[in-house]
Amino acid sequence: MKEPVLVLIKPDGISKGLTGPIFTKFSQAELEIIGIKIAQSRRDVIEEHYSHLRGQPFFDEVIEYLMGTGYKQKKLMAVVYFGVDAIKKCRAIAGATNPEEARPNSIRGSFGRIKTDGLFENVVHVSSNKSEAKREIRLWFSPDEITRPIYPTKPATKPPMQTKEWK
Ligand code: ADP
Repeated sequence: MKEPVLVLIKPDGISKGLTGPIFTKFSQAELEIIGIKIAQSRRDVIEEHYSHLRGQPFFDEVIEYLMGTGYKQKKLMAVVYFGVDAIKKCRAIAGATNPEEARPNSIRGSFGRIKTDGLFENVVHVSSNKSEAKREIRLWFSPDEITRPIYPTKPATKPPMQTKEWK
């Protein structure tokens, strides 16, 4: 069954110039990219993304980590891959949450580290299952930003808002 999965390249991956090597590793899975963008660090979105970790001792640290606090580049790259067993394949390529337990050739095994405060600085996020992928993709992307009709949509009229155009 073909399915979508959300991958985030976290601020350590961006700041260390690892986007190229990360894409090379994911390319082994031969999946299709159906959405991609640089996402600004928005606290409300990041807290929603990690809402299941609320109450964990490292919750505040992990929010600051995704916000890019202390990193050269305070942004994330969000990618939606699509294909057969996309979640399983991307999670295998990412490796275990703890970089010290991750397979050495995986992304986290190759590029992750445990910080002195104990936080797993593990370079990428990958959705853990189908329902989490749906929740996360709907959080990070609007339907117009995805090139396949993966989830139901409805017509929407947005109120006029001040925006910018090229001059
Ligand atoms: P994953 O990112 O592998 O799906 P979780 O959603 O459980 O894992 O955790 C989110 C992030 O929080 C991890 O990627 C990691 O950066 C951090 N984290 C998770 N568990 C721990 C832990 N026990 N100690 C330190 N940091 C952790």
